[in-house]
Amino acid sequence: MSSYNSAIMSLLKLGAGNAKLADTILTFSTPAGHTCPGAKHCHVISDKVTGKLTKSANLLYDCYAARMEARYPNVRKARWHNKDLIDSLTLIDLTDLMIISINKHKAYKKAEMLRWFVSGDCDSVKLRDAIFNTSRELNHLIHYSYTKNLPLFLDIKKPENYRLTASIGGRYDRLINPVDFPRSARVVRSKEEAAKLNLPIDKKDDLAYGPIDQPFALLYH
Ligand code: SF4
Repeated sequence: MSSYNSAIMSLLKLGAGNAKLADTILTFSTPAGHTCPGAKHCHVISDKVTGKLTKSANLLYDCYAARMEARYPNVRKARWHNKDLIDSLTLIDLTDLMIISINKHKAYKKAEMLRWFVSGDCDSVKLRDAIFNTSRELNHLIHYSYTKNLPLFLDIKKPENYRLTASIGGRYDRLINPVDFPRSARVVRSKEEAAKLNLPIDKKDDLAYGPIDQPFALLYH
């Protein structure tokens, strides 16, 4: 059996909504930290087998997604399931699997958006291109993501329905400017800090998936 046929029997794992996001938002995740080459002050990994957390030396923000993997083995397993499938497939097969997996999700019919990487980040050209292919194919959905892996998104044409937010606080912050990354997010510790910076606060991803490219703030919990 080819790797693609066996993968087809094993769809990518997606969610729909969470404590912060509406049920109309499908979600996709990969293992936190393990797939985040641009992470710096937030870099934490949960061991694939034991869940044990390892934190980077210069941690300013604890990675919530990694903590969830350490606490819930099923969450960890689902994210590694996705990563292992991504790594095993060609671009074409991965694109097909993404489209099938989304189509077959029980919340697909009422979905309006797809957030890529609630946990993890886009860490390869193949994955980026598969996501962009999928976005163009499923163009009735708004697709969106945050990234700290900025070099992967320089000088490329995104699909019309893809909204990318550069997440400040990573290894490639120097690449953030209004032309290349007009939409950016900065973590703040209080509403007052956001006000001082003159940044609106995004609470439910409205500014991440909304139509306007702009800088905004996220409150750190
Ligand atoms: S980029 Fe996001 S998922 Fe990755 S380590 Fe940082 S906070 Fe966690």
